[in-house]
Amino acid sequence: MIQSFSHKLISWYKSNKRDLPWRNTDDPYKIWISEIILQQTRVKFAIDYYNKFIEKFPNIESLSDAKEDDVLNSWQGLGYYSRARNIHHTSKILKEKYSSNFPNKYDEIITLKGIGKYTAGAILSFAFKKKFPVVDGNVFRFFSRLFFIEKFIDTTRGQNYFYNVAEDLICEKTPDLFNQAIIEYGAMVCKPKNPTCTTCIFNHQCEAYKKNKVFELPLKKNSVKTTDRFLIFILGTKNNIFLKKKKNGIWKGLYTPPIYEPKSKKELNNIKKNEELNIFNKNVKILKISDVIHHKLTHQNLSIKFCYSDLDLDNQNEFVKVKFKNFDHFPIPIVVEKFLKNFYDEEKK
Ligand code: SF4
Repeated sequence: MIQSFSHKLISWYKSNKRDLPWRNTDDPYKIWISEIILQQTRVKFAIDYYNKFIEKFPNIESLSDAKEDDVLNSWQGLGYYSRARNIHHTSKILKEKYSSNFPNKYDEIITLKGIGKYTAGAILSFAFKKKFPVVDGNVFRFFSRLFFIEKFIDTTRGQNYFYNVAEDLICEKTPDLFNQAIIEYGAMVCKPKNPTCTTCIFNHQCEAYKKNKVFELPLKKNSVKTTDRFLIFILGTKNNIFLKKKKNGIWKGLYTPPIYEPKSKKELNNIKKNEELNIFNKNVKILKISDVIHHKLTHQNLSIKFCYSDLDLDNQNEFVKVKFKNFDHFPIPIVVEKFLKNFYDEEKK
């Protein structure tokens, strides 16, 4: 039964897999980078970032020698910047401790910053062809429906159960293909909203399909809590902006203009042109203010306005005075970049 399952699955994979750049390599460095990018990014969007990142940092050495700002700049738009900081940090460890090679033992890989059980399994099986299971969101969904597993996928206990199932099924000879295939099957066939059950090659054995409970699985214990935040980015005049590297929070490591945080949506909406805001114990006059821009992050819903003001920090409080046209020399949050880019393109017309 196990053999026929993996045989069927791998045959399906060989005929239906997408041609993705990280599948044409067994270089552990490239596999690692692709897995980190894919953690919070859709495949379609990830391809371009992956290609550009690998072009700029083709190996461990080039990444470890890069400045953090350059790495963050290449990550701009992907979000979750801690991923970029972690790979940069880890590349230095790989250079110093492993002479710019990737270790091929689980116990060593798992100690590297930013690498968890899933990524370690992916590197070991895809690059080194070792028999380690990989279980991502696609696999949780596919297995929970196929075997009707009513375990919470966001608890360690539940996750361990799924890892055991994958460990029992994984193919001895080609663990890399098996792992790629279960992920691909979940992504392409056993999809979250529109699984193609009628043409699924496993529909005769799928327990959730037989019970008509496909959409009830997988199970989650906790839903993600989101908070609302209101921000005003204070820009200088149309010639200058002031940027400072954030030391913590969602944009840690990136540069942002000074931020004023109204306490409520009402306060944000009521702040208008010609009013004054108190920034760094100074009253700053708003010369122009944008409409509200909504920006969704996984745990935060941001409502943002941008304003031009008579603020002049003159390289104070660790802020750098930057000519408007040079803002893209700094790694900045995508929402700020989009606003400044639109504004700058409009000005040039
Ligand atoms: S029958 Fe539907 S739910 Fe079951 S494995 Fe196939 S696609 Fe997934």
